[in-house]
Amino acid sequence: MSDRAVGDHQRAGDGPSGTVSGPTTEGAAQRLAELIRQAKSVVALTGAGISVPSGIPDFRSPQTGLWSQVDPMEVAHISVFRRDPERFWSFYGRRFDALEDKRPNRAHAILAALEREGRLDAVITQNIDRLHGRAGSRQVIEVHGSIASSSCLRCGGRFPLDEVRRRQALAANGVPLCDCEAPLKPDVVLFGELLPVAAIERAEQLAAAADLLLCIGSSLEVYPVAGLPELTLAAGGRIAIITQGPTRLDHLAAVRMRGDVVEELEALRLALGVEVWAPSRNTGSLA
Ligand code: ZN
Repeated sequence: MSDRAVGDHQRAGDGPSGTVSGPTTEGAAQRLAELIRQAKSVVALTGAGISVPSGIPDFRSPQTGLWSQVDPMEVAHISVFRRDPERFWSFYGRRFDALEDKRPNRAHAILAALEREGRLDAVITQNIDRLHGRAGSRQVIEVHGSIASSSCLRCGGRFPLDEVRRRQALAANGVPLCDCEAPLKPDVVLFGELLPVAAIERAEQLAAAADLLLCIGSSLEVYPVAGLPELTLAAGGRIAIITQGPTRLDHLAAVRMRGDVVEELEALRLALGVEVWAPSRNTGSLA
């Protein structure tokens, strides 16, 4: 599994830019709804784009938020955590600040509704923001971990976010400590770390077994998550891509939707006739 270091941020190369013109959003939504009705297993794969309407910028987009002032590969790196936890936490504390009060948006809620209605088996996500779970999705595979907890690398102690924040506030140097006094590490995959084996294996099984993989808000550039659509295709399944920017797999997508993620999923929801109960119609803290 040594090739599974997410921090490598290996790029997939410049494939075709997906200039094939698709049907209108409504037509694409109808087509996608039909594929979902026919499929025995539908799985979603989500990336940063689904959390943008919640006010969480995609750090790969230039000049947004925290990541414009620092090089995340330099500070959010496991070697910095080990060598200089104070420096690491001075950055990661701000990352928590930026994530912990964010709320799920309508796109998260629609995926939760699809699962509830038996139209979606699971969500595989690259996001660490916990928003799928907070929107009500139950089968969520967080392949990059999440901010929900932090752990001690020395004794294995594990603490929920609110306790980590309490300990951080109490520490003079801002480094939250375990009961054994070692620094806690967020349970997110840092640059230079391997992906959690169990999560990625489950993601691979789901992708290979899916008749339809909905790729939502992901540029499909970071391996191994970027390889999941190919597992679906290789096993005879289809992929749909709902993302604003081009991806290298556009030419292989049965359905390609390029609009705003909330609007596209809303069109899909209407085409399927699925109701969203909660949260409210609020599309997110910035929308
Ligand atoms: Zn400990």
